[in-house]
Amino acid sequence: MVIGSLRSPSRVAPQIDVARQALICAAVDVQGETLAAAATAGDRVLGRSDNGAGIDVSLALISEEPSNAMSVDVEEHFQVSAFEDRIRRKEWASHPSRVARNIDRLLEMFDDAGAKATFFTLGCVAERHPHVVRSIVANGHEIASHGYSHHRVRNQSPAEYEEDVTRTRGLLEDLSGTRVRGYRAPSFSIGEDTPWAYDILQAAGYTYSSSVYPIRHDHYGSTSLSRFPFLVKPGGMLEIPLTTARVFGRNLPCAGGGYFRLLPVSYSLWAIRRVNAVERMPATFYMHPWEIDPGQPRVPGLSAKTRFRHYVNLSRFESRLEQTLLRFNWNRMDSVYKNALPGD
Ligand SMILES: [Zn+2]
Repeated sequence: MVIGSLRSPSRVAPQIDVARQALICAAVDVQGETLAAAATAGDRVLGRSDNGAGIDVSLALISEEPSNAMSVDVEEHFQVSAFEDRIRRKEWASHPSRVARNIDRLLEMFDDAGAKATFFTLGCVAERHPHVVRSIVANGHEIASHGYSHHRVRNQSPAEYEEDVTRTRGLLEDLSGTRVRGYRAPSFSIGEDTPWAYDILQAAGYTYSSSVYPIRHDHYGSTSLSRFPFLVKPGGMLEIPLTTARVFGRNLPCAGGGYFRLLPVSYSLWAIRRVNAVERMPATFYMHPWEIDPGQPRVPGLSAKTRFRHYVNLSRFESRLEQTLLRFNWNRMDSVYKNALPGD
């Protein structure tokens, strides 16, 4: 298995040979520790519900040269949840947009590295910039949904949520001309307090979600959920959590975002390699277009903590991302998990 080798910038990442992959169903406890594993080569993973929670099955994908899943949450720098007290949604249209130029740069970087990615796109961004959606698809990437206007799941009623995810999926399918299968909740806001969310997503036509970040954080995180992909119930959709490294009994974030800017890049590279080589699982990495944009206008009146989290090391992000892209193979989520996604 070749993991962690430096590759030349021009080399195209090989696609996973799905015929050589094996799926391993592993029973895990609520902290994500593997208790038992049984290989079921080539089979779809079936959910079990031994503890009644419906979340006790994980899967591993192994291949000679695995791909990790790259993802981008497509939103403007002023649409993040941490700014919602300072910039109201009705003011969004008056702020200068920077998302199109940032996506153009990301598409260039992905192309240079031979990487493919999934772009979880806000419906309101797609509506305002349909050419962004079209250029993402034209470059071979996957379009998926990030909801319409970045409302956290737990802040919506089930009826409001159903309208949000149904409308956004239809909009993205019309603009992209592709089927939209994936969804990521704003601020990873699916958890134990929103048990209805997956049923609504499935009824709306989604087959996978990547909305769980099993870490401790004041704005998101559910450490009681599995660290690795699981079917939310037998016959249900696949949840693909953001990647963590299990160290000294704790889940440490290593999936991109703010931690990727805060911590040395060597930590993230080590942690991703460890997940690949030791746990034999693909990693799921996420980022935002505004993270490669150190020139973005500064929002006044933020708390010191919010200011630090949003702006720390923006100028270093692009070179760190470049190193990360070149170190591993990266692919779209619907390709990495092709064998595990529920059928059409
Ligand atoms: Zn977001």
